Amino acid sequence: MVILVLNCGSSSIKYQVIDMEAQSSKLLAKGLVERIGLPEGDLTHKPVGKEKFELHQPIPDHTTGISLVLQALTDPVHGVIRSLDEVKAVGHRVAHGGEFFPESCLVTKQVQEKIRSLFQIAPLHNPANLEGILSIEKVLPGVKQVAVFDTSFHQTLPATNFMYALPYEYYQKYGIRKYGFHGTSHRFIAGETPKYLGKKPEDCKFIICHLGNGSSLSAIVGGKVVDTSMGLTPLEGVLMGTRSGDVDPAVLEYIMDNTGMDIHQMLNCLNKKSGFAGLSCSSDMRDVKAAAEKGDEQAQAALDVWTYRIQKYIGAYNVAVGGADAIVFTAGIGENDCEACEHVINGLSFMGVKIDPAKNKRGTVGIISTDDSTIKVLRIPTNEELPIARDTLEIVSKL
Ligand code: AMP
Repeated sequence: MVILVLNCGSSSIKYQVIDMEAQSSKLLAKGLVERIGLPEGDLTHKPVGKEKFELHQPIPDHTTGISLVLQALTDPVHGVIRSLDEVKAVGHRVAHGGEFFPESCLVTKQVQEKIRSLFQIAPLHNPANLEGILSIEKVLPGVKQVAVFDTSFHQTLPATNFMYALPYEYYQKYGIRKYGFHGTSHRFIAGETPKYLGKKPEDCKFIICHLGNGSSLSAIVGGKVVDTSMGLTPLEGVLMGTRSGDVDPAVLEYIMDNTGMDIHQMLNCLNKKSGFAGLSCSSDMRDVKAAAEKGDEQAQAALDVWTYRIQKYIGAYNVAVGGADAIVFTAGIGENDCEACEHVINGLSFMGVKIDPAKNKRGTVGIISTDDSTIKVLRIPTNEELPIARDTLEIVSKL
């Protein structure tokens, strides 16, 4: 079954087209639409086994962007399917499912309304996700759509671990609690890790470090999340590319009083101008490292803060799982930057955890710790689209 996987952002659409069977999957194409709503938009379409195709033209809205993707998919030269009839279902990444969605589900009018009701809690993501769903209704009428939520995998958090110590009525009235994000990545890695450990998922306790532009850690016991670093929104937790991670909430009032920023500007600063971008010269780890190597002390300080914050969360999650069997690195930095992972682990040597430099090489998948390390360290590439395609296949197949 050919499934289109969509990840719609406010000005972008990431997509993959996957031919899914129950036990196997074959990527047919992937691509990216960028700069939606700006004077010049871009489409980059990468069909497997064919030349990359690029298009530069104004893309006023998501419906236009998705139409261009569908044209590219069926184009005689760089297309991967003969007709749009072959697309049997569309799976959407939806950022926030609140407490409504512990699992992925078929998109109905009611589901759309629930996603809309979470706009206030997820103003940067859910409106774009719903926009993608409504656009598909227009350009592929009748095709089944499935919503896969970033928050669902974390719905196993016990109340002790998801409650903020705020007046309880805010949880009851407004759903204010920790939800967690990057759920499809944490779920994929939680499924893969036991295979490398040679154990059943129910016998494993480990910590996943999803370290990319957005970063989050999760504590997994018996295949279920017991704690995760992101919160009501993806702003909480470790230092990220442009997000601050944890700050004292009183900082906000102090900065606002001094700068005249309103709360929206303040949150924009915490989401888009902080983290590596705020402490250093760039949101991108490669730039920050390059600057540090040239002697930029601020860049080095940013790297040190990044490392320390991750170490602190690993320490906390070692408590949350009651002694971890493994620490797993994934996502852009976790998969590619062996040195950064080594720095994180070196600070934990008092726990007897040790990286093996001979194994800690880019491209190594699996265990990268020494044989005598008390906690195994692994590097596993994530796949955020495959769980979306799998859920879509499963839900649509049952109809
Ligand atoms: P992601 O959000 O998962 O795509 O990850 C993006 C982050 O991964 C950026 O900070 C990149 O600088 C970082 N990254 C990707 N490749 C490398 C690499 N080879 N070395 C260091 N960082 C990398």
